[in-house]
Amino acid sequence: MSSWDELTARDRRVVLHPYAAPGTPGPLYAVSRTEGVHLHLDDGRALIDGMSSWWAAIHGYNHPALTAAMGRQLATMSHVMFGGLTHEPAVALCERLVALTPEPLTRVFLSDSGSVSVEVALKLALQYQHARGKPAKNKFLTPLGGYHGDTLGAMSVCDPVNGMHSLFRGVLAQQIFAPLPGPGYHAVWESSSIDEVESLLRWRAHEIAAVVIEPIVQNAGGLRFHHPEYLRRLRTLCDQHDVLLIFDEIATGFGRTGTLFGCEHADIAPDVMCVGKALTGGMLTLAATLITDAIADAIAAGEPGVFMHGPTYMGNPLACAAALANLELLFSYDHCARIAQIERQLWRELSPLAEHPGVEDVRVLGAIGVLELKERVDFERVVPALVARGVWLRPFGKLLYTMPPYIIASEELSAVTGAMAAVL
Ligand code: PLP
Repeated sequence: MSSWDELTARDRRVVLHPYAAPGTPGPLYAVSRTEGVHLHLDDGRALIDGMSSWWAAIHGYNHPALTAAMGRQLATMSHVMFGGLTHEPAVALCERLVALTPEPLTRVFLSDSGSVSVEVALKLALQYQHARGKPAKNKFLTPLGGYHGDTLGAMSVCDPVNGMHSLFRGVLAQQIFAPLPGPGYHAVWESSSIDEVESLLRWRAHEIAAVVIEPIVQNAGGLRFHHPEYLRRLRTLCDQHDVLLIFDEIATGFGRTGTLFGCEHADIAPDVMCVGKALTGGMLTLAATLITDAIADAIAAGEPGVFMHGPTYMGNPLACAAALANLELLFSYDHCARIAQIERQLWRELSPLAEHPGVEDVRVLGAIGVLELKERVDFERVVPALVARGVWLRPFGKLLYTMPPYIIASEELSAVTGAMAAVL
């Protein structure tokens, strides 16, 4: 038995993988080393990563600027509790996030993962409404097709079918769902696309704390791109009906859609914003929830006067140091121009595949390239076929897609799109 077979056999005995059957997690590959855009497998093969490790490793793996900053931080201070203590990496990161995000966002709550930052966003919205004497505003309005994480609160605002709400009935909070956000990013705006949202807000605003949405791109719920005007109308409607607007920028943040944040496509600001994933460039898990002064002040003035949340590893200095170094790196080059270049190449190489009989739609925005197929991707066959071509992708549902690291070279990106075309 090779060491690779041995490791995967040990894995199958004890390890549970995400969205996989216990003991049979589907095709499984052992990674022994990473470098740049490459995953090096135990058996000696090197794969070009077209996934950025679930959209986080925007500067590839083991970037020297990130490992150096983390090394310096590790040599100075390990984790300390955040209750009653503070430190430079956390303060500097929160200052940086406030400077980078739209102006009304002024306060930052750090947490360990995207899902938790969404839980924090929901709880902040609920406490805000409670503090204003509006405890009946305790539901969330969200469009179908969203994905906001796997913890119970976050799941309650995920698409009810994709999120298997029927399985968790009785435990998940019942939220209010609007139709899929439409029309598409490049389509002509149709004002009727927001009618249902408008009517839900008109009749039910008294029970709605906030609207929750992934701006511009619904990610794990289907990789759909919606029109910026939809977001602008949503902003106006939330203001008219005294409802907060929460943007989940966990996947869209830090350049992925071609602007620093998805909300910039619509030139609007939310009341609450969640960021994560690419925040640390994939080095460590870290997320943040940003709010306005108005929300912070209302919570402070209400009962019990404190925000009811406090993770043990909040503000982990190593993760904050990684995030600071990653943001410095992101602004050390013209990332918008780089992502625009990736976008042009993805269009050039993927759009001819629209002619393929198995392809329903081809979509590209920023560093996101999607082939929506007519049938579900046969995962067990397609993943090994991609690996045989030296490419790492993880399709889901009917979607074969790439979200490459921004540092990917043009010929490496061609290898990714070429493998996508080949497995069709
Ligand atoms: N929100 C969005 C938009 C996401 O894409 C994800 C993860 O894919 C999450 C939340 C959950 O983040 P995490 O997996 O870090 O908990």
